[in-house]
Amino acid sequence: MAVVAPAPEEGGPVLAVEKVDVRFGGIHALRGVSLNVSAGEICGLIGPNGAGKTTLFNCITRLSAVTAGTIRLRGQTIETLPPRQIIRMGIARTFQNLGIYAGMTVLENVMLGAHHISGGRFIDALMRPGRSRQREQEIEHRCREILADLDLKDVAGVPAGSLPYATQKRMEIARALASRPIVLLLDEPAGGLTHGEVGEFGHLVSRVRTTYGVTVVLIEHHMGLVMSLCDRIEVFHLGQNLARGRPEEVRANWAVIDAYLGRSR
Ligand code: ATP
Repeated sequence: MAVVAPAPEEGGPVLAVEKVDVRFGGIHALRGVSLNVSAGEICGLIGPNGAGKTTLFNCITRLSAVTAGTIRLRGQTIETLPPRQIIRMGIARTFQNLGIYAGMTVLENVMLGAHHISGGRFIDALMRPGRSRQREQEIEHRCREILADLDLKDVAGVPAGSLPYATQKRMEIARALASRPIVLLLDEPAGGLTHGEVGEFGHLVSRVRTTYGVTVVLIEHHMGLVMSLCDRIEVFHLGQNLARGRPEEVRANWAVIDAYLGRSR
């Protein structure tokens, strides 16, 4: 299907986080962290609990404010923009806890993702109902294509809350794709999935990257998934960058092993 994100500028990271600091009162959650993600990459963000991974996602999507530092999407500074603008610029995310509307159908849930960027206003719907209807039909058509791509076509009319957990997770990805993202942020997508489902989920993310041309940043504790899926891994520990590299490099890094085992060498 043809929901391909516009090509990134030549060179330079698509997403660049520079020296970001976040304080919550007395808690120094992020201490000058940096992260560069290239176009089309699947980048893993790992680290022990409390390392600051979700806080960084929250800063990128503007759910948390940075205390210092810069975040750029394709070179454009975004760390002061409102959350809705961030979505429109091309950053979509999923959450650790599923953020679905259980009583709404799968199609309706996914269409919500598209409405974030469609810019439809109540006054327009009132004054120009024909135009508004046409836009709604276009959105529905596109969302049905996404559902077909993600093997969700058969459950389009089913209430989201009645689906198995793994299918709901797939639906969350579909909804994120509906906002035509350049960068897709996935926060612990494998949480709660069975071993077999994790493998399928990995294939899905890989397929989505190729089909939709998105760049993916993935927070994940499931090391099997991270090591098999990611092109590159960034490790956080205690709110700081600890290590980065290809999966095999990170796996062999003693500082990373020690951080996970809670040792200091
Ligand atoms: P996990 O893998 O367990 O999800 P994480 O690496 O995502 O952990 P964060 O959730 O980003 O870690 O938390 C980093 C630190 O910031 C923790 O000490 C956490 O308690 C703290 N923190 C996060 N959000 C807030 C908040 N809104 N108010 C106060 N402290 C917070």
